[in-house]
Amino acid sequence: MEVLLTEEEIQKRVREMAAEISRDYQGRSPILVGILRGSFLFLSDLVKQLTINPEIDFMSVSSYNNLTRSSGVVRLLKDLERDISNEDVVIIEDIVDSGLTLSYIKRMLMARLPRSLRICALLDKRERREVDIAIDYVGFVISNKFVIGYGLDLAQKYRNLPYVATLDESEAGVP
Ligand code: 5GP
Repeated sequence: MEVLLTEEEIQKRVREMAAEISRDYQGRSPILVGILRGSFLFLSDLVKQLTINPEIDFMSVSSYNNLTRSSGVVRLLKDLERDISNEDVVIIEDIVDSGLTLSYIKRMLMARLPRSLRICALLDKRERREVDIAIDYVGFVISNKFVIGYGLDLAQKYRNLPYVATLDESEAGVP
């Protein structure tokens, strides 16, 4: 295991992102939609630094398996509690990899006719992208390595680490 982003680096970048979002949504109350479970630490640190008054809601989707991956089909496990029509919405995601999960979520939320919809992701594995999706707020662009910590798991563990670390292939269980 090797630390990729320290707690200090993450907190500094989260403060910068919160300042940018606060500027962009000055005088408005966007609904921040955290995608469970990976975004929970990022969302909680981010909202503490905002100078606007957002609402907060959550969605949960299943990660696809190899069969559904190419089609981009994602199963909705938990929907929003609130109607978003005519509202400003910001999706808060931990990491964008292929982009399939987010493009599914974006399509589903756009069908509900929000006033605006933007995407905020802490980590961007850009070189892995399979679908074209614009990320409006990006924390860090990282290389194609499996990462854990700060919300991100390996078999549901390590989400509590205050930093982001990479695992090598044997640690990550890749054959
Ligand atoms: P995508 O649909 O963009 O391929 O995948 C996004 C989801 O895959 C993320 O929300 C996350 O749950 C998972 N994921 C992608 N890369 C990583 C990684 O390096 N580490 C962990 N723990 N999860 C990842």
